[in-house]
Amino acid sequence: MKPAPFAYRRARTLEEAVALLGENKEARLLAGGQSLIATLNMRLSAPSLLIDINGVGGLGGIAHKNGKVEIGALVRHAQAEGNELIAKYAPLIARAMPHIGHPAIRNRGTLGGSIAFADPAAELPACLLALDGEVEAAGPKGKRTIKAEDFFKGLFETALGPQDVLTAIRVPAAAKDTRTGFAELARRHGDYAIVGLAASARADGKGLKDVRLAYFGVGATAMRAKKAESALAKGDIDGAVAGLDLDPNDDVQATAEVKKHLAGVLLRRVAKQLMEPA
Ligand code: FAD
Repeated sequence: MKPAPFAYRRARTLEEAVALLGENKEARLLAGGQSLIATLNMRLSAPSLLIDINGVGGLGGIAHKNGKVEIGALVRHAQAEGNELIAKYAPLIARAMPHIGHPAIRNRGTLGGSIAFADPAAELPACLLALDGEVEAAGPKGKRTIKAEDFFKGLFETALGPQDVLTAIRVPAAAKDTRTGFAELARRHGDYAIVGLAASARADGKGLKDVRLAYFGVGATAMRAKKAESALAKGDIDGAVAGLDLDPNDDVQATAEVKKHLAGVLLRRVAKQLMEPA
């Protein structure tokens, strides 16, 4: 199928992108286009204007500063995948990257686009939640920061306003005692996950503390399993699986029952990664 007709503008600055969004309520930002163009082609959306932000300066950097890793919205998945700062200071994101689609998609798709699109089965929203990260957004009143906990509101719904541009994400830089775990089950490698789990924790002697488990593919947004986190912090993997506080819905990939079972399987794998890092 072909998309419905639309106008195209290339924003040169952040201010121009914000202003264009204000002028046209039906406009959409175009980043890597890997999700947006598919929805246009399938006529799931028909914006009258696409505002291309690929020429906007200042959205493409990766930096380690003030104890955080900051990743610009236009950083491509492939760039993040091979980046040394991300490998060292945001290893959970590095672990997740190869699971996102295929190389062609990762060459164009952006981290900002993935977070803004907020697909419930996507890897990066769960990583941001597991890492207690934050989103920076620019709007008509300037820039603001939104905690990951407050950012993902519902199915493909975020805290971004109609005139907001996501400019960067930030996660705490990994320290010596940081542990991360990642696992997902998909029908074929590169497909969206049936169920996935991104996790972070800190080593505490032989145990763990500050455990954060963020599941994806189990509901309208990425979501934490806080009872299971507490059980894992006590070293009780069986208890974490038995009391796993998730209530998935059936979807096209699997029934709720299968998803819940798979979530337990992933929990055991990820617990091992957290407790016995390679
Ligand atoms: P776009 O498609 O350009 O935009 C997506 C949406 O976000 C649009 O509504 C756009 O307006 C908005 N947007 C983009 N950037 C910003 C911004 N800076 N500020 C505010 N709003 C913005 N993703 C996964 O996570 N896991 C997968 O396994 C996976 N598999 C895929 C398989 C296929 C075959 C395809 C085509 C895509 C797949 N994707 C997957 C999606 C891919 O990761 C996309 O890159 C990503 O979802 C969106 O990033 P983008 O830069 O392409 O955004």
